[in-house]
Amino acid sequence: MIPAQFDYEAPESLEQAVRMLHENGEDAKLIAGGHSLLPLMKLRLAAPTLLVDLRNIPGLHGIQRENGNWRIGTLTRHADLQDAPELGVASVAAGQIADQQVRNRGTIGGSLAHGDPASDLPAVLLALEGQVSAQGTDGLRQIAAADLFQDFLTTAVGESEILTEIRLPLLDGYGFGYHKFNRRQEDWAMVAACALVKRGADGTCEDVRIGLTHMGSTPLRATAAEQALRGRPLDAASIAAAAEQAAEGTDPPADLNASEDYKRHLARVLTRRALEDASS
Ligand SMILES: Cc1cc2nc3c(=O)[nH]c(=O)nc-3n(C[C@H](O)[C@H](O)[C@H](O)COP(=O)(O)OP(=O)(O)OC[C@H]3O[C@@H](n4cnc5c(N)ncnc54)[C@H](O)[C@@H]3O)c2cc1C
Repeated sequence: MIPAQFDYEAPESLEQAVRMLHENGEDAKLIAGGHSLLPLMKLRLAAPTLLVDLRNIPGLHGIQRENGNWRIGTLTRHADLQDAPELGVASVAAGQIADQQVRNRGTIGGSLAHGDPASDLPAVLLALEGQVSAQGTDGLRQIAAADLFQDFLTTAVGESEILTEIRLPLLDGYGFGYHKFNRRQEDWAMVAACALVKRGADGTCEDVRIGLTHMGSTPLRATAAEQALRGRPLDAASIAAAAEQAAEGTDPPADLNASEDYKRHLARVLTRRALEDASS
């Protein structure tokens, strides 16, 4: 439970931090809240020789409304999202991460860059069709949520890149629902479902987005369920029929908590509940 020895730097600018990452290659790791990285280091599953702490870099915190989006600094903590109900489903999901101690330290950028398919915020970003900004030696680039999560704990953020901000579309007129299933409050999700629904003038489903947590090696969209509901009446029967498709195309990892079949069952039930909330 004691990490291997490492050096520590806390640069005061983004440029310095990028340079440190670039010069030290895979030996260097960024640290934000430390609540995913430090447990891995204590288990010696990660052994960086240099930790680059983002804490002294200005401009990486906070939530602003800007051009139809929420702009969220990468170091914004889960607790700050939880305390910002205007963010809708992102706030509700952040409030269900682990316990208050973890939420007081963990950051949105750390969670998205880590890319754990069992984490809550990646599937929310995917359903919202948000994007992240990453600063590297070649400048700043935007990465759409659909391109960010590549494999288990693998994202499109490069080794010398720093995720600086997250943009979530406001999605005015959409209802939302978020349902997570775990045995204890502080546990990761066995499965979670995030739903966003826009009701058309005639009462049918004009648009629907569903994000699933822990149903594969990356967060996923439940596209079959989305297609089944789009254009249909937003009533109990249509929602239940669409939710039956929620596990189509998924490949959930079995673990000590749940078999693959049980996870598929959870995906169907949680998607139905999330859709019901989003449509009410
Ligand atoms: C007991 C416990 C329970 C938890 N339960 C849940 C849960 O239920 N749901 C959930 O979603 N999460 C859970 N977590 C994880 C928690 O949310 C983490 O805080 C989060 O996943 C990582 O954020 P962090 O700021 O702590 O990142 P860190 O641990 O500091 O970093 C994680 C990784 O991201 C990289 N990184 C960090 N910031 C950046 C950046 N700006 N740019 C590029 N790379 C970066 C780091 O180099 C590292 O590889 C739990 C953690 C613990 C300890």
